[in-house]
Amino acid sequence: MSYIVLARKYRPQSFSEVYAQDHVTGILQNAIASNRIAHAYLFTGPRGVGKTSLARIMAKSLNCEKGPTTHPCNTCSNCNEITAGTSPDVIEIDGASNTGVDDIRELQRELLYAASGSKYKIYIIDEVHMLSKNAFNALLKTLEEPPENVVFIFATTEPHKVLPTIISRCQRYDFKRIPIGAIVRRLQDLAAIENIMIDNESLYLIARKADGGLRDALSLMDQAISYCMDNITIDKVRQIFGLIPNQVYHRFLTLIDAKDATGLITELHDVFEQGTDLQEFIANMLEFIRVLILRKLGVSIKDINPEELQMFDELGGMFSQNKLMYMMSFLIASRTDLRSSSNPYLILEALMIKLCKMDEMEDVAALVAKLSGAAKLGGLPAQSSEQTPGRNAQNARSNSYGNITKPAAATQAAPEHAHHEEAPVEKVTFNEANLNIMWPRFEIRTEKISKMCTAALKNAKSRQANGKILQLTVESQTDYNRLKNNQSALQNILSELFHESITLSLTLDEAATPAQVQIHRRTLDDLKKDSPELAKFIETTDSVLS
Ligand SMILES: [Zn+2]
Repeated sequence: MSYIVLARKYRPQSFSEVYAQDHVTGILQNAIASNRIAHAYLFTGPRGVGKTSLARIMAKSLNCEKGPTTHPCNTCSNCNEITAGTSPDVIEIDGASNTGVDDIRELQRELLYAASGSKYKIYIIDEVHMLSKNAFNALLKTLEEPPENVVFIFATTEPHKVLPTIISRCQRYDFKRIPIGAIVRRLQDLAAIENIMIDNESLYLIARKADGGLRDALSLMDQAISYCMDNITIDKVRQIFGLIPNQVYHRFLTLIDAKDATGLITELHDVFEQGTDLQEFIANMLEFIRVLILRKLGVSIKDINPEELQMFDELGGMFSQNKLMYMMSFLIASRTDLRSSSNPYLILEALMIKLCKMDEMEDVAALVAKLSGAAKLGGLPAQSSEQTPGRNAQNARSNSYGNITKPAAATQAAPEHAHHEEAPVEKVTFNEANLNIMWPRFEIRTEKISKMCTAALKNAKSRQANGKILQLTVESQTDYNRLKNNQSALQNILSELFHESITLSLTLDEAATPAQVQIHRRTLDDLKKDSPELAKFIETTDSVLS
């Protein structure tokens, strides 16, 4: 018996079978049920999420002998012809191969003939953005005065390339990337029907690799089946797709934490030897660290294998949020360098050493900040006053790969805050009254750590001087984390203001914590604002929060 590829075998034949696009199928079914059929539809969205499948289902709904109906019978000759792609009244055109104006002219000529055996003549034009400009214009004329009972269904992965004048004449439906969890469930169901054993880890790897497209997931599954037969295991799946197990990243991060550069390079050479795609290696490591950060923020992540959650949380405990962000900026810079480099190995080796030496770099960055502060006090022009804070931060980041600079710590006082930076304050004894007097100065000085840190201080519910301990109570986990992650920097600032060396003690008053999710969302937005690269990264990889 010949093997039918899964994507074809399980191609949806009715609205209810179109997977994870309920927001589109619902509206279309309502339109058909109430006989409000438009002349032109535009289906947009990533590849392999069901656009052309749904176009055919629409065609059947309209032309089924029992139609227009939201439940095409799939048994009448019209339905069968559409399924087989032989209906004379449903014309499928591939925009990628029929880009010329002649093709559209022919289409226009053909429009003169009414549907032969069906109610509607339906044109499905896939990848419509590929049509030439002339072809678009010819098409536009048709759309301006559409003949009776003609329906156009356009599909495109790149709606921004479709002329606005065409888009405005269409009813537009945006298809979504399918969440990883949903792809996993679909693969699980199909594996059960096909009597195929597949482990959880394989399901997640395939789903992640498919990147939101069900069709891609199914063809990856086909490859796995042809290699493993009816027992798909993670080891074999990795061999086929050259995927890097999360355990590898676990080892890398453990070695980074241990500052074991030799171990890291050895581990990296293993990766080289296995012929791993280095871009993919970095992309996966970024994704891995992204998960660590999101877990640290308390964001629930649906698209990772639940069995691996504990590993992520344990690792997350080893690194501060700042450090993870710092690692991310290194990785993003290396990924860019990798594209243009003739020696990718060197770039990755340098990356590993930098990841190992992060702490030292932070120290140097703090030293640079201190020195430039001293220069300013000594009457020397401070370099940073020529730069806007935004540029300053950005420069620090874009240089972060090549130079020893740290975004937050190296960023000196911005010009608009220059007037706050008065002459050194006479130190005072640490007590309740002096704490209140010094507090505004303290807050201003914390801006050089980060504005978010200052904001966290302003949000604090209460503060108390207790011996040599400054006790702060905060109401949200976010504020708590921001302060906790900068504890030593905050203590350093306190020691500039008070005679004693002060310990900062933080208490989280959770009873007052509002909806966690909202806070985390806001944190994520803050993080995005903090770094344009990160914002781009979060947006492009973010299927979790959308
Ligand atoms: Zn039918």
